Amino acid sequence: MSEQWIYLNGEFVTKENAKVSVYDHGFLYGDGIFEGIRLYNGNIFKLREHLDRLYDSAKSIMLEIPLSYEEMQEAVAETLRKNNLKNGYIRLVVSRGPGDLGLDPRRSPKANVIIIAEQLAIYPEEAYVNGLKTISVSPRRNLPDALNPKIKSLNYLNNILVKIQSNLAGVGEAIMLNSQGYVAEGSSDNIFIIKRGVVFTPPCYCGALEGITRLAIIELCAKHGIPLKEEPFTLHDVYVADEVFFTGTAAEVIAVREVDGRTIGEGKAGPVTTRLLKEFRGIVELDGYKI
Ligand code: PMP
Repeated sequence: MSEQWIYLNGEFVTKENAKVSVYDHGFLYGDGIFEGIRLYNGNIFKLREHLDRLYDSAKSIMLEIPLSYEEMQEAVAETLRKNNLKNGYIRLVVSRGPGDLGLDPRRSPKANVIIIAEQLAIYPEEAYVNGLKTISVSPRRNLPDALNPKIKSLNYLNNILVKIQSNLAGVGEAIMLNSQGYVAEGSSDNIFIIKRGVVFTPPCYCGALEGITRLAIIELCAKHGIPLKEEPFTLHDVYVADEVFFTGTAAEVIAVREVDGRTIGEGKAGPVTTRLLKEFRGIVELDGYKI
């Protein structure tokens, strides 16, 4: 296997040499931001949208990214070229950088920028046809006025608690509610339900990340005249939905066949989900930035 190269602050280093300080506040406090991005046949899918979200997250937490937007775009593309990848997953991390043991971000003057690109192990194709079994979990989504889920921060403990509960239940993804009991999202995916031909997804104020795949689905629904509403809904609405699916960079558009023991629709990917997955896969090589 050829060497894997990691971008670390403007240089390419091997995986073994890709190291940052134990004083990095990304490590000490989860102080930093990240993006997960997909490369499809040489096209970085929706790179502009991912970088917009990265720079918005940075602005929100007053983290200065030491690269201009164009430099970041080129750094991502160069990492992919360096690793000879045409398809894969990109993890872009900007951490606050090394400081002292106190919280104060002013003592971490230099952010670390890391880009990792590798092949992606996603769900088997069978899962896109048969759908996932999922559950609702007890940890509630971070309150937007405590830590806004719109910030794609390195602080993922809320999501990891969900992952632990999902693992114990033997499911790969789970449904998180917000503190008011409305459906927010999955541990690392957005959620959609379909009832009588209408697609629903929670508005971001319910505690959802502004997912790039979510946005792509909203755009595809508009393009193909499929009615869609961003509206709060409850677990009851999920249980009685005709179709349910998750969206995410890694998961793409994946159907759900069972929620908390309730069979959804026919217990496999329904017609609207199947169509949206097909339309989604139709744009992934087109919409984005060619390396
Ligand atoms: N919600 C959370 C909490 C996430 O971490 C992610 C990213 N995996 C998503 C939703 C989906 O967002 P995207 O479509 O941009 O990957």
